[in-house]
Amino acid sequence: MIVADPKPFGQVKGYLENFDKILVVGCGTCVTVCLSGGEAEVQILASGLRIAFGREGRSKTILEDTVQRQCDEEFILPILDRVANEKIDAVVSLACGVGVNFFADRLGTTPIFPGVNTTFYGAGMEPGLWAEMCAGCGDCMTAHTGGICPVARCSKHLLNGPCGGSEKGKCEVDPANIDCVWQLIYDRLQKLGRLEELQNVLPAKDWRTASDGGVRRSVREHLYRLK
Ligand code: SF4
Ligand code: SF4
Repeated sequence: MIVADPKPFGQVKGYLENFDKILVVGCGTCVTVCLSGGEAEVQILASGLRIAFGREGRSKTILEDTVQRQCDEEFILPILDRVANEKIDAVVSLACGVGVNFFADRLGTTPIFPGVNTTFYGAGMEPGLWAEMCAGCGDCMTAHTGGICPVARCSKHLLNGPCGGSEKGKCEVDPANIDCVWQLIYDRLQKLGRLEELQNVLPAKDWRTASDGGVRRSVREHLYRLK
């Protein structure tokens, strides 16, 4: 899932100083699961904005909506209609950056502002805790590392073994909270009886499949032909 954190309230309020009719839109997928941009967070942000602007004696209309996915046209069409029909001045999206971009491309002259900071692809570890698992590098190398990703989970993105800061299985960047991924990889390969594979030096990674290679697209040729 895509993980995001709520933006500081004052930052979001600051975006909206010059607008009177504001629609806060949540997304029912990843950001709902990680408790940053679902229906409940829309209600909390909208209530906070009403209270904060009201205390300043400023009358603004703060509206709420939540769609199942902001990254899918069929779900955002009703919001686009609502923005036009109700003459909304500005939209705040609590979706990840994908939703913000997808909306922005379709919103015409209505401004949109992000309500969350999109952080990483991760998984829920414990209630209230999510951890990064994948960096979307476009050429998955976890076949060589027991299914554990050194691109995303090594603080230095080291692809051929640990740095000198690995100690007692912990990463020097934050020993209290981060496992050294190369310890995890070692332990996993040991369990799988594949430790000898660690002696294979992996070639330099081709980062053109990552975002370094420019804006990426994913095509299913039976449905879409690139021009
Ligand atoms: S190697 Fe690349 S695609 Fe595979 S999990 Fe890591 S970042 Fe994601
Ligand atoms: S201690 Fe381990 S996880 Fe941390 S930077 Fe070094 S190799 Fe990467």
